Amino acid sequence: MARKRPSRDQLKPGEVLCQYCTAKCCRYFALQIDTPTTWDDFDKMRWYVMHGRTAIFVDSDVWYLLVYADCQNLQADHRCGLYETRPQICRDYTTDHCEYDDDGVYDKFFEVPEQLWEYAEAILPQRSRPKWQPASPALPKLPILTV
Ligand code: SF4
Ligand code: SF4
Repeated sequence: MARKRPSRDQLKPGEVLCQYCTAKCCRYFALQIDTPTTWDDFDKMRWYVMHGRTAIFVDSDVWYLLVYADCQNLQADHRCGLYETRPQICRDYTTDHCEYDDDGVYDKFFEVPEQLWEYAEAILPQRSRPKWQPASPALPKLPILTV
């Protein structure tokens, strides 16, 4: 029978939250990026998410590149295979504010290039067409009927 996943405040003395977790914090990394202000900035971010297993999110006005990638030291039982010599960033991380019960909701979240482009179109002044972007096909001319 599957082990019931307790909430933080249901932990018994001596238990650790990570015992009940599938190592959510070892399956991605996120890097802070500059707040985009130009079409070129958004074009670059569009390229980031074109690679798949990436996303852009914004939390408290700070922009991040999110890369979904399991750490190579993660074992099948969700424990660290390099615990004694794990990187400092892992040592500094605690369960105090970790994503154990995080709902994964951010202020903004972009998973596909089209979402970034649409957002850019909503907040930036209209751009001139970049050289690489083909012109939209001309609309067919319809006859004007007179009565
Ligand atoms: S620190 Fe939090 S997210 Fe990471 S394994 Fe432990 S409970 Fe899971
Ligand atoms: S080194 Fe260990 S603790 Fe750090 S991310 Fe990899 S599996 Fe997780």
